[in-house]
Amino acid sequence: MVDRASYLEDWRHGYEVVADSGIARAIVRDREPCARCAGTGRVEVTGADGSIRIGRCRCQKVVVACALWNAAEVPARHAHCTLDTFKSELPGASPGLTLARHWLKAYDPKKETRGLVLEGEPGRGKTHLLCGILRELVFRHHVEVRFVEFSHLLSTMKESFDKRGGDPVRLTLLARVPILAIDELGKGRKTDWELQIIDEIVSRSYNQRNVLLGTTNFPPAPSKPTGTLAQPGVESLEDRLGERVFSRLREMVTFAPVKGEDFRAVRRAPR
Ligand SMILES: [Zn+2]
Repeated sequence: MVDRASYLEDWRHGYEVVADSGIARAIVRDREPCARCAGTGRVEVTGADGSIRIGRCRCQKVVVACALWNAAEVPARHAHCTLDTFKSELPGASPGLTLARHWLKAYDPKKETRGLVLEGEPGRGKTHLLCGILRELVFRHHVEVRFVEFSHLLSTMKESFDKRGGDPVRLTLLARVPILAIDELGKGRKTDWELQIIDEIVSRSYNQRNVLLGTTNFPPAPSKPTGTLAQPGVESLEDRLGERVFSRLREMVTFAPVKGEDFRAVRRAPR
């Protein structure tokens, strides 16, 4: 289903995002040929010294942004997810949206930016917000981003490790992306191998000073055995990732709670 608000917004900007072959694919809309470059995409640019060179026309920005978006590999089911389509009218959901917008406002591609991990129970719209942030980063800031679903990433990497004895190319590629978004951090079977891979990804991103974004269903810190807020038996993200990875992650990101009602339950409930 195409959300009308996001569809119109995208259209206005010369593109649309549709679910296509498993990914949320951005397509440049058919437009009148650009008056500035007559549709060639190239224009003459006069330098300060009067020299003339050939440059890229402004109208190509959307083409570049669509290519960046398609390289991000956002799954098709999130094609409609923008910050504008986030259902902030649901009780308690708007602080999550505010957090996302706040982070974007502070984001500066020229400066080192602290990442953001949205944490909270399932069904609160964390992945929607994450995809909305990515959408803004690509179409407003034109930065390269990549979306990976934690357990899917682990299983595809495991497959290639089993077949070829390793997939350092994939790891290197992920470390090269300036903004990596990991959905459902901490999900998985928590085997030594999985912990080693997540350690590798986080360490490489850390060393490259890349920005990590993510979501997790696990509370970041372990529950305390004493005190009124103790929740014995609830696994934390630290339990899931191990102390070493978690402590590095904590240096790289801010954990932001996303609360509110369960979207899926609200959708199911009779009105
Ligand atoms: Zn043009």
